[in-house]
Formats: sequence, structure tokens, C-alpha cells
Amino acid sequence: MTTSRCRDLSVREVLNRVQDVERVVVVGAGLAGLRTVTALREQGYSGELILVGAERHPPYDRPPLSKAILLGTADDSALPLDPASLKVDLRLGTRATGLRDGVVETDDGDLAYDGLVIATGSEPIRLPGEGAHYLRTRDDAFALRSVLRPGATVVIVGAGWIGAEVATAAARHGARVTVVEQAATPVAHALPSEVGQRLAPWYAEAGIDLLCGQRVGVVRPDGVELAGGTTLRADVVVVGVGVRPATGWLDGSGLEVDRGVLVGADLRTSLPGVLAVGDAAARWSPRYSTRIRGEHWDDALRAPVVAAANALGGAETYDPVPYVWSEQFGHMVQYAGIPAAGGNLVWRGDPDTDSGWAAFWLAPDGRILSLLVVDQPRDFVQGRRLAEAGTPVDPELLRDPAISVKASVAGSAR
Ligand SMILES: Cc1cc2nc3c(=O)[nH]c(=O)nc-3n(C[C@H](O)[C@H](O)[C@H](O)COP(=O)(O)OP(=O)(O)OC[C@H]3O[C@@H](n4cnc5c(N)ncnc54)[C@H](O)[C@@H]3O)c2cc1C
Repeated sequence: MTTSRCRDLSVREVLNRVQDVERVVVVGAGLAGLRTVTALREQGYSGELILVGAERHPPYDRPPLSKAILLGTADDSALPLDPASLKVDLRLGTRATGLRDGVVETDDGDLAYDGLVIATGSEPIRLPGEGAHYLRTRDDAFALRSVLRPGATVVIVGAGWIGAEVATAAARHGARVTVVEQAATPVAHALPSEVGQRLAPWYAEAGIDLLCGQRVGVVRPDGVELAGGTTLRADVVVVGVGVRPATGWLDGSGLEVDRGVLVGADLRTSLPGVLAVGDAAARWSPRYSTRIRGEHWDDALRAPVVAAANALGGAETYDPVPYVWSEQFGHMVQYAGIPAAGGNLVWRGDPDTDSGWAAFWLAPDGRILSLLVVDQPRDFVQGRRLAEAGTPVDPELLRDPAISVKASVAGSAR
């Protein structure tokens, strides 16, 4: 388990803690917000519970937006929520606009709280200019899907996780696709170039032009202007250059915010009774001795269980190895760890010849700091488990695909 729950609370303990909290407000009705209200009820909270969401849609999952929904193989990614049975007061289409002592201000009036969980997620970083598509919401996905037509010229800015998935979908729709990336290789924010370059051939194989080392200065409805002055014409422009936490509404609240609401490993903020989870949070990680910004689905799924416990007076910590996956060009790509962790690179399998392969980064003592695994889900599960546990592996065993990842534990008999 990556979530360290100190011990199970007795029913009496839970009740003692819960009676101090009469109204919990959760702001942000995405995965993290929904998981928070669910976890609060599962952990015995019976007081008033309000979930505030700016979008008019009930909570839904975002990963399918750039996959099945953009591909046209699904039309919905709603998350299961029955407000009546969960006894949650769901306020959709309501935006939090400010926070002052014990009160969330919204565009529909003030909400006093005893406990507050911030789960407002993130929003796309925008480029100068107009007319580009950004992909964050369900509405964005349907707007983009409607213009991905055979023969359409599509320019995608950014060859990160999202850019690659949009490129995959656009090519499958028969569009003529160019991806412009300012770094030298794809997914450069997470992968060093010697590994990122192994993803580049997938673009050409899908019939996509990948232009690396090119910065887009301005986007327009009919194309993009590169920093050098060249214009690339397009029927559709899509920008996927990263996200920033949606925390503008907290300006002036006194909360410490630095590219995310600053929280400890207990997910508590600098204000009493206020916690933050998911993409909106920047949590301190004792494991890495650094601050980690969410941005991944797994965080939004799991951190709320700890946040709910601590909102009710618990003392739990959340400090997993971060995990993200991406489905691009017919490949399942899974990454765990943090890019800044460094380490010695160990290849498992050969990206040039093997259908599945992996790159591991090991600490000098053999612990797995990060791993990238392509089309080998079992290797990923085993590697992630070893990384979580901090178990040292033997690099010579690890690089041999004939030996299972779990059998590469240093000193283990095979
Ligand atoms: C297209 C797409 C594909 C993705 N694919 C993957 C993937 O394959 N793998 C992976 O690991 N991760 C993926 N992610 C990332 C993952 O979806 C996010 O990390 C996750 O959704 C974060 O959940 P969240 O609840 O913290 O934030 P969000 O999902 O952003 O939800 C936050 C909600 O809060 C609302 N809100 C914001 N401000 C306010 C306010 N002031 N008042 C009220 N409500 C507000 C927003 O409207 C939003 O509905 C993808 C993201 C996108 C956009």
C-alpha cells in the first residue's frame, strides 16, 4: 500500500472526532472532489456535506476525454454518484470565488464550513492568440471531436502525454497531423532525451509529422506562428502544453499557494480545517524530500481517502510514488516516480526490436527511483511495487526480460 494508514480507527474514535465537524464543504466536483465526499461518508461522517462544482456536468472522468471519447468509441465518462444516497448537497454550476475565515464565497452566495477540502483541479496553460482548442473538459472534448475529420489539417502544440493522445485520435479520424514541440524529444518534462527519443518514431509510423525544437509563439484560428516567424496553416489548432492548478479563487485568502495549494504529507494546508487534494494540491513528499504537484489521475483517486480521514481528525500520511499512464499510437505507456529523482538508467528490452520495453532509474543502492514501461503491464506492476517498497534490485537481473522484474530483487534466488 502506498497510502500509509496508521491503524484502523475504532467506531468510537471516529464518532468522537466527527462530532466536532458539522459541515464539510468540498470545492471542485471532479474525481478528487467526488472521492472526498464518498470517503467522508465511508469513514463515518454524518454531518452536512456540500460539493461545489463550477461545471454543470455531474462528476466525470477525464482520461477518457483524450482517448475513447476523442476516438468516438465512447460518449460518456460519468463517475458513479447518487447524491441522495450519499446525502451530499451537490451544487453544480457554482463557482467558488473566494475564501475568508470559515467561509467559502461562491457566485451563488457564501458557505460557512467547519471543514473544507479544496479539489479544484487544474486548467490548461494558454498560449497567446485566439482560436485554438484546449482539452480539459467534457465540452472541450466534444468540440474537438466534431472538427477531427478526414483530410482536415491539424496542428497540435506539445508532444507531451495529452498532445500524443490527441495526435493518435486525430490521425485515426483521417486528419493530416503535425505536432510541434519546443523540446528536442517527446514528453521532455518527464523523460530525459535518451528515453524520450524512443517515443518519436511512433509519430512517423502513424503518419504524423513531429517537429521538435520549434516553439510556437502565437496561435490563430487558421494556424500557428512559430517563434522564428514561420506560419503553419491548419484547419484545427490544439494546444497541450501543460496545466496549472486552478487556485486563482484563493488569492488573498491567506492560504500558502505556490503552483498548487501547499499541503503537508497529511494533506493539511496552512489554514486550520482546510485540506487540499488532486491537481490543486502541491504536497510535501517525505519519500523524495521535495514538493510534488498532482496532475495525475491516481493522485485524485487515492489522496482523498487520507484527506477525509484527516478532515475528521485523523493523523494519516499520503506519500506514494506518483503514477501516470498514457495510451498513444497503440501503446500503453506507464510511468512512476518523479523526473527529478535522477538515478542510473537501466534498459530492459530493446526499444528498436522488442514490442515491449522499459527504462528504470536506480539509486546507487539499487532502489527503483522511477520507471517507464511500454506495453509490459506486468513488469510495470512489479516494478512499481518494488519502487513503493524501496526494495533494491540487481541491475543485471533487471535488464534481462527473461527474468521477471520481481525476481530481480538484489540477493534473491531466482
Ligand atoms: C484530457 C485529459 C486526459 C487525461 N489523461 C490522463 C491519463 O491518461 N492518466 C493520468 O494519470 N492522468 C490523466 N489526466 C489527468 C487527470 O485526469 C487529472 O489528474 C485528474 O482529473 C485530477 O482530478 P481533480 O479532481 O484533482 O481535478 P479536475 O479533474 O480538474 O476537477 C476539478 C473540478 O473543479 C472545478 N473547479 C475549478 N475551479 C473551481 C471553482 N473555483 N469553484 C468550483 N469548482 C471549480 C473544475 O471545473 C473541475 O470540474 C488527464 C487529464 C485530461 C484533461
